[in-house]
Amino acid sequence: MDLSHILFHLGEERERYAGAVAPPIFQASNFAQPSVAAMREAIAREYAHPLYTRGANPTATILRRKLAALEGTEDALVFGSGAAAVAAAVMTTVGQGDHIVCVDKPYSWTRQLLGDLLPRFGVACDFVDACDPASIAAALRSTTRLVVLESPNSMTFEQQDLAAIAALAHPRGILTMIDNSWASPLGQSPALLGIDVVVHSGTKYLAGHSDVVFGAVCASRAFCEAVFSGPYMTLGAILSPHDAWLALRGLRTLEVRMQRIADSTRRVLGLLEAHPKVRRVFHPHANDHPQQALTHRQLRFASGLLSIELDTDIDGVERVVDALERFLIAVSWGGYESLVFPAAAWRDWRGREHECPVPATLVRLSIGLEDPAVLIADLEQALARA
Ligand SMILES: *Cc1c(COP(=O)(O)O)cnc(C)c1O
Repeated sequence: MDLSHILFHLGEERERYAGAVAPPIFQASNFAQPSVAAMREAIAREYAHPLYTRGANPTATILRRKLAALEGTEDALVFGSGAAAVAAAVMTTVGQGDHIVCVDKPYSWTRQLLGDLLPRFGVACDFVDACDPASIAAALRSTTRLVVLESPNSMTFEQQDLAAIAALAHPRGILTMIDNSWASPLGQSPALLGIDVVVHSGTKYLAGHSDVVFGAVCASRAFCEAVFSGPYMTLGAILSPHDAWLALRGLRTLEVRMQRIADSTRRVLGLLEAHPKVRRVFHPHANDHPQQALTHRQLRFASGLLSIELDTDIDGVERVVDALERFLIAVSWGGYESLVFPAAAWRDWRGREHECPVPATLVRLSIGLEDPAVLIADLEQALARA
């Protein structure tokens, strides 16, 4: 894959835009057609041709082409958030009476969609520990239409064997979908392993600068057209032209950012794995991760989102997190800046630790683009307070 060609040139059509090296922001809600015949044609081909910005906008189209190329899919659609992309892909696939199998511990709002919202419309979902593909097979019903994966999943980063799950779903006519935000398209290529639909929270690594919220669905042309004429146009959760442009600008540096993050994360993992106050490190590239073989098969490098379980109590967690100077206390992840989020920040946590699926002293870190030596020194001084 010629990455710099995709990131810098693919889809830019500079010859049409006065050679502009950075693409124009098509800040227009609608596009005039030269004749009635042309209007008829534009309506018929709205998927690919600018007519109204809730449909196709040229700035967003450049982003769509790059994301499809990065994921190795025929096409892609972009949305105003990752959550919108997940919802659109799911709602395109299932209807009343259908059943979904999803990994346990997916992104929290994906769980809310599948476990709370869609059941109100007659769609059932089972959440299963999918580390073993056999547990997915066991959960399938005659009404199962969709398997929703997130590999690695949120907070504890367990993986699923993508090729094995695709192989058991396809003969049954069941669609497979994965949230690939953690690895980014550079770190993992689910479509090449047989997964049908790849979704992203582009807010994280794709845009990479903590200044835009966006999402993507990467899939076959037929699936993208079905999404387009369904939830995409009806729910209207589109990416604005200006935000599409910000996402394109962020995407230019994806390769160098991911290289830096992979390198820094390996060094941070080395510190954390040896630290007496760290009981456990959750990351596919951690030395004691139980799925080493899968890590080597599916992931090309270490991405920068990981969790640690501290050997202390919740007050100790609070002391450590408050002492960090180079990690901002914030949700989200994947930006230029390092972040920390303790599970103890969740409301109503105290006294209810047993109800939560993650350890009470779990702390999530997002490794950013700072000098790794600075991050390591900061972690060392903060961990000393546990
Ligand atoms: C953040 C996130 C989402 C949701 O994306 P938004 O852009 O915030 O809507 C979905 N999946 C994962 C894994 C995420 O981290």
